[in-house]
Amino acid sequence: MTDAQDPGPVRDERPVRDPAPVRDPEPVRDPEPVRDPGPPREPGPERQPDPVRDPWREAMRLALGEAAKAVPAGDVPVGAVVLDPGGQVLATGYNEREAVGDPTAHAEVLAIRRAAAKLGEWRLPGCTLVVTLEPCVMCAGALVQSRLARVVYGAGDEKAGAAGSLWDLVRDRRLNHRPEVIRGVLEDECSALLTRFFRDR
Ligand SMILES: [Zn+2]
Repeated sequence: MTDAQDPGPVRDERPVRDPAPVRDPEPVRDPEPVRDPGPPREPGPERQPDPVRDPWREAMRLALGEAAKAVPAGDVPVGAVVLDPGGQVLATGYNEREAVGDPTAHAEVLAIRRAAAKLGEWRLPGCTLVVTLEPCVMCAGALVQSRLARVVYGAGDEKAGAAGSLWDLVRDRRLNHRPEVIRGVLEDECSALLTRFFRDR
């Protein structure tokens, strides 16, 4: 009887040791290879969520698509999209300065004109202009004149930007209307498009 009682505690320890090392590696090894291929598909946005810029990424991609349309005519690739207050696309535009020989045919001006034409109204309250490059003085002026609620841009323009870089016309306190400014949305993609254009020129 005493012999039978002794091996008891020894048997108890064994079954506890055995399942533990088997259970641990299996569930850990399985999910890892599945998770690993995921992140590389959406690296930047997934790693650093940005509640200010992330909502405008989709519209910026549309603007990038517009910007690409400028290249065949030899125009600097800048694209713009005007969104209505509900976030629907009202109008688009891309730089057509060379294409039509018009110094005012910047992407922002064309998109703003088309949006106003669509609404039948020069005021665009609650609307947002999304543009791949920081607006110049002329376009910043057009933004203020159209009473846009917001301007969202990708790449900054240290040489001619009028929305925070060289000037900050859109937020000049002497103006009655000052649109909100969100900068740096898909900045790398927007900059790369311009860099490629000037390099291939
Ligand atoms: Zn401009």
